[in-house]
This record gives sequence, structure tokens and C-alpha cells, in this order.
Amino acid sequence: MKKFSMVLLLLVAVVACKVNPFTGKKTLNFYPNSQIFPMAFAQYDQFLEQNNVVEGTSEAQTIEKVGKRISNAAERWLTANGYPGYLKDYQWEYNLVNDETVNAWCMPGGKIVFYTGILPICQGETGIAVVMGHEVAHALADHGAQRMSAGTLQQIGAVAGNVAIQDPEKRNMFNQAYGIGSAVGVMLPFSRSHETEADRIGLQIMAIAGYNPDEAAELWKRMKANSGNAAPPEFLSTHPSNDTRINNLTQWAPLAKEEARKFGVTTFN
Ligand SMILES: [Zn+2]
Repeated sequence: MKKFSMVLLLLVAVVACKVNPFTGKKTLNFYPNSQIFPMAFAQYDQFLEQNNVVEGTSEAQTIEKVGKRISNAAERWLTANGYPGYLKDYQWEYNLVNDETVNAWCMPGGKIVFYTGILPICQGETGIAVVMGHEVAHALADHGAQRMSAGTLQQIGAVAGNVAIQDPEKRNMFNQAYGIGSAVGVMLPFSRSHETEADRIGLQIMAIAGYNPDEAAELWKRMKANSGNAAPPEFLSTHPSNDTRINNLTQWAPLAKEEARKFGVTTFN
């Protein structure tokens, strides 16, 4: 029986691996968009209903403007790299919520929330683009779905070969992966490798959108200076450390500008 479930586990893992265009890596993900997105969209709407959404202010308009520029850049990158239909099921939405927590997140399918508490650290449009690029990158790289898949795999192991994940269990897994179902409405931290990936991809798409990637390291210096305050789960997860992050972003910024030049972008604001 044990042997059987091992084989089954391997089989599921092989079938579920797909190459992610942003990372070029095979990743474990057996939840298609058609399963994840409806759950994400419903959770997102519920979150907006239960929280204080800021509408019509210049700050809310900037969030929307930056979000559109970043997602357009992602689309251009995907089309140029042979994935023209990749975002067809995405329903981008960019909302600002009145909450002093220093945080922002993006749910699968392009559902983004910024908290007003992160705006003083962003210090304007380019800083917002750094955070936006990072959050959008998590969604594009399917990090949430991968975390969900890893959880499912553990569960499959636990129940010895029961591959049929029933709907309530799937929802449960989703909640564990995103943490949005909880009263606090914040994302659980991603792993160190997912954070690093989101930093690198985010830097590229912000540059293609015409935002200066040099600002990313500066934003993280401000984040570091601010980290004496209450730690927001998505942004101040300790992996990677602030210093590693700042070093990475400084190193990668010229590469991001080079990538942007391929798209005719030569000046950055
Ligand atoms: Zn992140």
C-alpha cells in the first residue's frame, strides 16, 4: 500500500509539472486557472466588501494607473516571448484599502490590494511600481498555486493514495495557501525562493513599464528603516533578509533596464 501511494505521488507530481514562462522552471502546480481563479475572485470581492476601499482620490487613481502599466508590460513581455494567451483568464483589479498596515498583495488572476499604510514608504508612483511589480510577479509565476499544490501533495501522502481532493478540502487548501479567508485578510509569507523570484520578475516588468528599477533597492532601504513597526506578513517576511534583497535588486537593476531596451524603453521615470 505504501509503495502504491509512493508511485501515485510520483505520477501526480510528473503530470502536474509545467514550465513557467517567467522563470523557465518546471514547477509543481496541479491547479489550473479555471479552478483557482473563481475562488480567488470570490475571496477578493468578499475582502473588498468587508474593508474600507478608497475611491476617487488621487492616490487610488495612481494605484490603478501603475497597475495598468505594469500588467500591460507583463502582457507585452509574454507576447514577445511566445505566450500570447497567457493572461486571457486574468481579471486585473487594483484597489486601495484604508488600513495603516504596511502591506500589499495580489491574489491569483490579478486581484491586487494596496493598503494606505504602505504609501509613505512608496513615496510616489515609482515606489508604488516597485511594490506593484513584485505583487504582480507572484501572480504571474503562480506562486500561490504552487504553495497550494505542495499542500495537496502533503495531504495525498497523508491519506495514502486518495487523489480525489474534494471541493471543501480544495477550498481549505486555498485558504491555507492565501490566508485571505482569515479575519486579518493578509497573505501568508511566501518562501524565500518565491520572494527572490518575485523581486527579479517584478524588476523587469516595472522597467518595461518605464519605471526606474534603481528605485527598488531604495524602497527596500526605506522598508528596512521602517521595520521596527508591526511586521506585515507579505512584506517583512524575514526571507530573504532586507540586506540580501537590497543587494540583489541593486545587481539586477541594470539587467532589467537592458530587458526594457528590447521593448524600446530607454528612459525611466
Ligand atoms: Zn512577496
